[in-house]
Amino acid sequence: MSGNEMKYIQEAFDQNWVVPLGPNVNKFEEELKRFAVSPTPQDTFTEDYPRSIMPHEDDPEKLWAESLDDERLNGKQVVALSSGTSAVHLALIALGVKAGDEVICQSFTFCASSNPVVYLGAKPVFVDSEKETWNMDPTLLEEAIKDRIAKTGRKPKAIIVVYLYGMPARIAEIKAVADKYAIPLIEDAAEGLGSRYRGRVCGTFGDYGVLSFNGNKMITTSGGGALICPDEEARNKVMFFATQAREGYPYYQHEKIGYNYRLSNICAGIGRGQLTVLDEHIAHHRRLAKFYAEAFKDVDGITFHAGNDSELNASTEIPAEGKTLSNYWLNTITIDPQVKVKGQENAYRTTVKGAVGGAAGVIHYVDSAHTDCEPNANVEAMRLWLDSLNVESRPLWKPMHKQPVYKDSPAYVNGTSESIFKVGLCLPSGPLVSCDDAQFIVNAIKDAIL
Ligand SMILES: *Cc1c(COP(=O)(O)O)cnc(C)c1O
Repeated sequence: MSGNEMKYIQEAFDQNWVVPLGPNVNKFEEELKRFAVSPTPQDTFTEDYPRSIMPHEDDPEKLWAESLDDERLNGKQVVALSSGTSAVHLALIALGVKAGDEVICQSFTFCASSNPVVYLGAKPVFVDSEKETWNMDPTLLEEAIKDRIAKTGRKPKAIIVVYLYGMPARIAEIKAVADKYAIPLIEDAAEGLGSRYRGRVCGTFGDYGVLSFNGNKMITTSGGGALICPDEEARNKVMFFATQAREGYPYYQHEKIGYNYRLSNICAGIGRGQLTVLDEHIAHHRRLAKFYAEAFKDVDGITFHAGNDSELNASTEIPAEGKTLSNYWLNTITIDPQVKVKGQENAYRTTVKGAVGGAAGVIHYVDSAHTDCEPNANVEAMRLWLDSLNVESRPLWKPMHKQPVYKDSPAYVNGTSESIFKVGLCLPSGPLVSCDDAQFIVNAIKDAIL
């Protein structure tokens, strides 16, 4: 919390705007828009991360008003919504996705990227990742498109690319493929808020960009999301469907099915406060990433996932347009299969009784801890070892094409996401993790290796 949240929440109560619209919502959208076109790193680069967030008009110290660059904005609009999932759903609706249509989706992701495709009765087609960023493989994407056209006689209706753990995807190449076949592109930047590809904010390359402000994401509105839209017309369409699709009569008249997906004015107030600390949050996540990257350099069998980040991956070429920077929302490592970890022989003896990672809600209890695709025993042993020291780590997201619920969906795979899932682990990365904590975690991981 930045201390500014209470101010905006109080404002909402004072002005009697305790509803899913109002001044905080409008201003939050305006601020997100400014953020989306905020200057590229070489314009404003400070120690860890560019100053991109311009908190509010009352704070003249900050440079936000200067940077709303109409040319960069290129007509883009932002709609604040109740979740990132609803943003994916509405992007698909705005693109006219209907029952029976096919939508290409990155397989290595959280289920919220692809579930809305199914909400609409459409069919997800999964595409695997490349090894550098763990995101959609542009070559495989093109193969998938060609094959779908050959098999069905129709083009997929949209492509959903993801910024997994905040890592920028190879968006220029992906966009080139999308453009070549004239298929609209949705960027799921729910985990990638503030990440940049060649200096530009992730979520602003495609037709639609999805943001999430859920409790566990880069910033939180307790629950919330936003959709970056290509223009005013698209914005109006999204807004219409987000507010129950009401026609312009003095009484409720409905010609379309709508949704109750708007962000509340209270949550938007929290979001405005949170935006003032987004830069600091990103800087902190990046500080931890640098620490982990350095610390694991000389640990045999452990590899830090630096991806295509211009600063943490020395082999990445920095194009003239600007740096590629991950927000390192979750820092991740991979553990070689030959690494022996304490307690490995007992790794899958017990099933999970509470949701891993403290996620809220009800989970189904299972009889066996095994599935046909799971992290290696040494990875699970490492998770349990860290857990015993009160350190919460977790497996990577299990690819959608390996999920039972998607077993009938077509998938174009190269083995990358499945093999990374088996060796990967997410480490504590949030604003409450200090560098001392990170040192403790690194030591604990070293201790666990036999
Ligand atoms: C969290 C997340 C979402 C959904 O965001 P919510 O705000 O939780 O609905 C979508 N896609 C990805 C990749 C996510 O991690």
